[in-house]
Amino acid sequence: MPVTYAELRRRLDDKRRALRTQLDDVQREVREDGVGYSNHMADAGTEVFEQERDLSLAQQMQHTFRNVEVALAKFDDGTYGICESCGVRIELARLEAVPEAGYCLDCQSRREQRR
Ligand SMILES: [Zn+2]
Repeated sequence: MPVTYAELRRRLDDKRRALRTQLDDVQREVREDGVGYSNHMADAGTEVFEQERDLSLAQQMQHTFRNVEVALAKFDDGTYGICESCGVRIELARLEAVPEAGYCLDCQSRREQRR
């Protein structure tokens, strides 16, 4: 049975809530680790690495979080599931895999090639 938009909206809501919690956790961790580096030379490298990993993870999550929020706002606009670039309806199978997708597969791969 194909997934419905109502179901996708529910999933996005769940995803937003989960991401919000995870982001809070990561941000707290980054803050608690602080900007100061360890006095122990041996630990410094590991700590920098962990901080960088946390930060890029946080950035990735923030990026997804924003996309999820944009997608949820589209339900109110009535534009959910419509490609932002070419205006076609995004296939349900794609939305089921990536409910926050803002572009159809064609436009998405074109955007990724440009990077
Ligand atoms: Zn498109």
